[in-house]
Formats: sequence, C-alpha cells, structure tokens
Amino acid sequence: MVEILMSQKYAIGVDIGGTQIRAAVVASHGEIIDRVALPTPATQGPAAVLAQILKATQQLSQRTNDMPIGVASPGPLDTKRGVTLGLPTISGFDHFPFGDRLRETFGRTVLLTHDGMAAAVGEWKFGAAQGFDDFVYVTVSTGIGGGVIAGGKILEGRKGMAAHVGHILIEMDGELCNCGRKGCWEAYASGPAFEKRTRLLVKTKSQSVLTEASTAKDIFAAAAAGDAFANEMVDHEAWLLGSGIVSLLHAYDPALVVMGGGVSQNFDRLKAGITHAINTTAMEAFRDVPLRRARNLGDSGLLGAAAMAFENVL
Ligand SMILES: [Zn+2]
Repeated sequence: MVEILMSQKYAIGVDIGGTQIRAAVVASHGEIIDRVALPTPATQGPAAVLAQILKATQQLSQRTNDMPIGVASPGPLDTKRGVTLGLPTISGFDHFPFGDRLRETFGRTVLLTHDGMAAAVGEWKFGAAQGFDDFVYVTVSTGIGGGVIAGGKILEGRKGMAAHVGHILIEMDGELCNCGRKGCWEAYASGPAFEKRTRLLVKTKSQSVLTEASTAKDIFAAAAAGDAFANEMVDHEAWLLGSGIVSLLHAYDPALVVMGGGVSQNFDRLKAGITHAINTTAMEAFRDVPLRRARNLGDSGLLGAAAMAFENVL
C-alpha cells in the first residue's frame, strides 16, 4: 500500500499543441518539477507524433517509468474510446486510435483527454477554480475552447466532447470558422479573428499607429498607449467575448467563469468590457457570476492532464 502511494506522488502531464509537445513531471500538489518542450512533427503522421511524445517524456530528468501519465490532445476527440476524429492542426489523426497507440508506446494505461477539458481540470485542481463545483473554463487563443465542471464532476457528454464552446453560433451565416461552419463564436472572438478584423478596418484609420500587419500584441500595446482606434477594437473584442460568455452562463449556470489562453494575457484590459456585455445582455439572474483569469495560463493543460492521470490510477 505504501509503495502504491509513493509511486503516485508524481505524474507526467503531456500537452500536444500544433507547434509544441510539452511534457512535465507534476507533483500531486500541483507543482511542476521538471519540463520539456519539443517541436510537434505536425505533418509527419501519428507514428512521428507518438515517437516525439515518448522522447519528450524520456528527456525528463526523473525516473518516470512508474508514474501515471495523462495526455491532453487537441479535439475533436472521442475520449471514451480514445479515438481522434480529425485534428485540424496535426495531420493523419482522422479516426486514429490514439489511446491504444499511447498504451502500446508506454506499456501502460495512458489517460487521454482533450485540451480544453484538461485545462479546465488544471484550473479546478490547482488554479483559479479551486473549491468550485460548478464552473466554466474558456480558453481564447488561436481558437476558442473550454471545459465544464458541473456538480463537482467533469461534464463529458456522449463521446467526451462536451464544451466545444468556440463553436456556439453567434451569427447566422456569419464568418467562416476553422471547423468549416459559419458564424461560430471562435470566428469572431479568437486571437486571429481579432487581428483580422482590426487589419481590415485600419485601412480607413489614418490617425492610428496600427497597420495591416499589426498583431494582437501590437493592438493591445497601442490601446495602452492611448490609440483611439486600438481601444475601439479592444472594446469590441471584449464585447464579443462577453457575448459568448453570456451563452455559457445561460447554458451551464456556473458559479465562476475562468478565462485562459493567449488573449487572456490582456485579461485586465478586457475584463470591464466583458462584464459590461454580460451586464447588458445576460438574463438578470445570471449576471452576478464572477469572472477570473486562469492562474496557470499556459500550463493549465499540462497540470490538468497530470491531475486526471492521478485520479485515473486512484
Ligand atoms: Zn466553428
């Protein structure tokens, strides 16, 4: 019994991104002990990706053979069968038995989940949502994703695909989304959508320091320096983020909303505008839900994958 508990003091968390595969040794209290990042062989097929995941974990300085392991993958992913259903950023993963292949690669059970859910769990166990039984996590970066904890449990859905919140419809026949549909929230409020809209409109704004090559970072910097157009665009982005969050409040009735992802680095600037959108458009009974920034930001997924691996073993 003692031996089992000892071996579960640490777990490996792996987060697969479009550009990087990151692996970490995570202690059961949420501290990252060691970490490795390797490039994702995104065009070389699943065998190359599996080899790179193994390589990343082997480069961790601890002896990791007996640690539980959790892997966070982009979706869509049937987490109940461990089958990926076509990953937009990594080729060769359409109907791929990722869970089985991971188990063969590591010679032991591997907990496989989607990255939004992992990040939600990372914030729930070790971050901004500790102590909450009902909360929604939203990540806003190159896309919009998320995860929901309801009644103290991860809301999975039929295939473990619940909370693909970026694809709630906010405009009928609207902008084209990465998923191939039109009018999704992600197509309006993700980082690239924010940049695209600003670059289109900047052509007519001779007073602004922004250009048709400005990045999201440039836009926030110009806004902070007092650029009126940049501030207008940031306020509009906050309104769009808030509009989507309103739907999440109505759908999930959370006690807390946590925002992560690259765009949330500017959470302090966006928060008032998001709150304004909520207070203007949500049904009154849903307006008093607090909004927080993720505490672990880029590490939420790694931590959550490790946390789920601990619980899977226990
Ligand atoms: Zn979509």
